[in-house]
Amino acid sequence: MNKIVTVDWLPDKKSKEPVYQQIVNYISRKISNGDWAIGYYLPPQRVLAERLKVNRSTISIALDILKSYGIIEGKSGKGTAIISNTWSIMISSNEANWGSYVKSGFFKENLPTIQLINKLEFVEGITRLGTGEMSPKLFPKEVITNAMNSLTPKMSNLSYLGPLGLDELRETLSHRLKSFGINASPSNILITSGSLQALQLISISMLKPNSKIFCEIPSYINSLQVFQSAGMKLEGITMDSEGLQYWNMGEDMKCGGVSSLLYTIPTHHNPTGIVMSEQRRKEVYKFCSRNAIPIIEDDAYWELYHGEKPPKSIKAMDVSGSVLYLGTASKSLAPGLRIGWVVGPESIIERLGDVKMQLDYGASSLSQMVLNEVLINGSYDEFLIQFRTILVRRKNRMLEALNHYFKDIAKWNNPTGGYYIWLDFIDEVPVEKLFNEALNKGLLLNTGNIYHVSKTNSLRLSFAYVDEELINQSIKELSRIVRSLV
Ligand code: PMP
Repeated sequence: MNKIVTVDWLPDKKSKEPVYQQIVNYISRKISNGDWAIGYYLPPQRVLAERLKVNRSTISIALDILKSYGIIEGKSGKGTAIISNTWSIMISSNEANWGSYVKSGFFKENLPTIQLINKLEFVEGITRLGTGEMSPKLFPKEVITNAMNSLTPKMSNLSYLGPLGLDELRETLSHRLKSFGINASPSNILITSGSLQALQLISISMLKPNSKIFCEIPSYINSLQVFQSAGMKLEGITMDSEGLQYWNMGEDMKCGGVSSLLYTIPTHHNPTGIVMSEQRRKEVYKFCSRNAIPIIEDDAYWELYHGEKPPKSIKAMDVSGSVLYLGTASKSLAPGLRIGWVVGPESIIERLGDVKMQLDYGASSLSQMVLNEVLINGSYDEFLIQFRTILVRRKNRMLEALNHYFKDIAKWNNPTGGYYIWLDFIDEVPVEKLFNEALNKGLLLNTGNIYHVSKTNSLRLSFAYVDEELINQSIKELSRIVRSLV
């Protein structure tokens, strides 16, 4: 017979702290102070939910977090066992002082909401309404399988590659970029482990501490700490329907003598979906050239247009080498390949490649071969055609649901590409409370404040991840929750 612990506590539903977090804290405390010993079992989820007077989904979120800490474990057919109490040693502030180690070092911690989202995304049964990734159900299995099948007989090794990555892939990308108006020879291209790594390489190897990074308000870059970890400051610039209002970058572009830089996502912007107009692109390029401000152009979503092609990238008009262009296979093929590329002047590419060698000695050789294969055999482009149609269908479903359930309480855009709908509530909605209430109902949200501190009344919705048949009911449920909060 399993020894089952006694639960004699109730969460405080009026507390600001989310209920699942209170449950995590309660169970952690019981285990760390020795009340509940290793080898004991928790009551079954249904019983726990009844005893704590909460939904089963709240219990399952809390237990998944505890599992991720490694202190409980599901034993098949037996229930959930307590397997470790090292958690108490790890995070208690007066033991071995791990706390100071955990928070020291070069990298800043992720924003708390992002840390939570990163964990909760893997909780079973949760509906991810804001995730910036294609649904696993859309994974182009045949494309990848065929590429692997034709690669294996040809593959003579899986050795390390040169500092800039697989020559054949750089050659292929060089051709492909030409069709987008970008003139880049293979020596102008560095393969990275995703474009996130490209950003990290740039921040640690090219920019000085205290540099100022201009970016859109809101911006994906605010959800990361890459630049801040390297001692740089982000400065947000407003947008209109044509994109970045560059004239607001003002006179004070140098920061204590240290130069500044512009990070922009001009096409199908993350998180707002805005496309910078052709005219605005020209003006931004001219303005930055005149003021000697280099540009990082993050073009993760260009190929995901829903109808008409967007304007050419800013890089396509770059004659002075002042634009570093970032591309990735993550949004249009598979993020797990972890392959991205930077395009720029040879001297910069060499420098970034050298630093990359010091960090990880190259992106996965296998992933690079796979990407090269699907690009040259045409299956990547065939998949893109299908994928765009699927994105449009999913977007329309979400727009229909929003029209039905949100018309009187929010405003949103109809994006012409990419994954995202940006939603602004008309009246004040406390988004932190909304995040927690939605989570209690099994909906995971990406609230606007992740993308800029001022965006406390907005949501980034994504139609790329959520199951198509769940779109309507999730939006309906979300509307019910929002209405209960205003
Ligand atoms: N840039 C933008 C604008 C993104 O949205 C993302 C992914 N969310 C990335 C970069 C990072 O992508 P990767 O998987 O290539 O690191």
